[in-house]
Amino acid sequence: MRKLPIAGSRVGVVCGPGELPRDHQGIVLSQITDRWGTHALVLMDDGTSRTCEGLTEVGIGWYQLNGDIKTLQCACCGTEAIGRQWHNRDIGYGLCEACADWIAGRETAEYLHKGYGVKGIHYYIEKE
Ligand SMILES: [Zn+2]
Repeated sequence: MRKLPIAGSRVGVVCGPGELPRDHQGIVLSQITDRWGTHALVLMDDGTSRTCEGLTEVGIGWYQLNGDIKTLQCACCGTEAIGRQWHNRDIGYGLCEACADWIAGRETAEYLHKGYGVKGIHYYIEKE
């Protein structure tokens, strides 16, 4: 079973020898299933969209780019928020767990996703 990247995560693709995944990066929008199977729809940073059939760890193909977990500032209350930068949010800002719970109780999941990213990736990082 091929491993597909989850929505909201960043991936990079290597199309040929000498390329690096970070040279062609994008964000996974969703996983789509059609008659050929399940793929991940990727919005590349250059504005094009691509389909990812699965992740690889060597050679040509798609790589999961695990963006660095940073100490961000909560865009809601200003406290420290551990997470990853979400492209829709000003650089340096994230969402703390208390505000994530607060917003989740009042707004739609779509609102939360659009503004703050994916739970467990951009905010509410699982502690190891
Ligand atoms: Zn907060």
